[in-house]
Amino acid sequence: MSLTVLNPATEEPLAELEQAGVEETDVAVARAKAAFPGWRAVAPADRARLLRRLATLVEEHGEELARIESQNVGKPIAGARAEVGMVAQVFQFYAGAVDKHHGETIPVAGGVDMTFREPMGVLGLIVPWNFPLNIASWKLGPALACANTVVLKPAELTPLSAVRLGELVLEAGIPEGVVNVVVGPGSVVGQRLVEHPEVAKIAFTGSTEVGRRVMQGAATTIKRVTLELGGKSANVVFADADLERAAAAAPYAVFDNAGQDCCARSRILVERIAYDRFTSLLVDATRGVRVGDPADEQTEMGPLISAAHREQVASFVDGEPLFRGETPPAPGFWFPCTVVEATNDDRVAREEVFGPVAAVIPFADEADAVRIANDTPYGLSGSIWTRDGARALRVARALDTGALSINSNSSVRVATPFGGFKQSGFGRELGMQALEAYSEVKNVFYSTD
Ligand code: NAD
Repeated sequence: MSLTVLNPATEEPLAELEQAGVEETDVAVARAKAAFPGWRAVAPADRARLLRRLATLVEEHGEELARIESQNVGKPIAGARAEVGMVAQVFQFYAGAVDKHHGETIPVAGGVDMTFREPMGVLGLIVPWNFPLNIASWKLGPALACANTVVLKPAELTPLSAVRLGELVLEAGIPEGVVNVVVGPGSVVGQRLVEHPEVAKIAFTGSTEVGRRVMQGAATTIKRVTLELGGKSANVVFADADLERAAAAAPYAVFDNAGQDCCARSRILVERIAYDRFTSLLVDATRGVRVGDPADEQTEMGPLISAAHREQVASFVDGEPLFRGETPPAPGFWFPCTVVEATNDDRVAREEVFGPVAAVIPFADEADAVRIANDTPYGLSGSIWTRDGARALRVARALDTGALSINSNSSVRVATPFGGFKQSGFGRELGMQALEAYSEVKNVFYSTD
């Protein structure tokens, strides 16, 4: 069965790809298994060198990769360039980590006790459509640094950058079979990877609903899983914050990537005494978001990924919003920047919209802010805006969420751990922490008697 890949800004086909089924997935797993002993035997310094070469190739092909990503996901080109820049940094970082992730010696009686970080074997990397290349690199970097081989399954809607990356991996000199990119449906290829007895671990990023299924499926073979799932993060704005700065930044924390961001701070919690002033600043700032052709250097927000997704996003907006922006005319899966007033019990505040819809919710005081922010099944990211440093830290400690920022809305950095609490998943990506989830600790006791 072939797969037609669309440009969501024009609704025109970009490519026609063959889709893999169970048989092709099994072949890819077998290739990864065959490549494992050789890859594991590569000296650490050489593995690092190959990862550095991959980083350099990603940089050299940066513009090409950014254009692929921009066309396939509908991302503004400027943002796509920044994302590809991060991909190169991720490979650089994990090239540097290869020989810094080591075991320990532990004082015990009668001998020497030492630990080793062993690779797991063949890993299944399952990636969503919103940040296809970035999220693939977050998994590939530590997986390869720890000497695993992988089958990478991109999302059906956005496979093009992963296919190109697979070519660059070979060009970098990473041996055949170490990285196998398999394009196909999640319910077939993804599911097979989850069930396959020769796959040691699934590193999954996607929806909480599918993540739940992955976890269930992995139970049969006691597969390791890391799950990076959905979010419903709170952007908590106290009255003593720099309101102009907080309001100017808030739209980009929701409307970036057209809201299709697991970290989207889609619940904007505002202290009641500053509510009117802040919402008026927020509406002004949202009016300034430039929505349009992703290829235009000035564009800040592109279309949604598909017609079906646009319908889903639209279902969250009933009644007259506080603000609704403009969109370019059809074709394209456009949806306007939308700001609604809500309570935390409304559907728009409870479920992940995954589109450019921000819900503004008032709160009474610090305790109320913490209560509302934590009143969600998710716990991925969030922000706290205040000039009171002690309060910022008090609230940061009180929030049940994995990646927070104070007086800022950015949660993702190459060197720092990223991942969720509660139903946003478990396991951490990025930073040195990610290496824990891509290796097994082996303990060896050597008797000196
Ligand atoms: P999705 O769950 O529908 O799909 C994710 C991937 O899983 C795709 O490659 C898909 O083909 C595959 N898949 C589908 N069914 C499967 C199955 N039964 N077994 C195995 N794999 C299967 O998610 P999506 O719509 O592509 O992405 C959006 C979701 O991803 C949002 O919920 C978002 O919050 C989440 N996300 C989370 C993070 C994070 O780091 N926490 C980052 C980006 C996106």
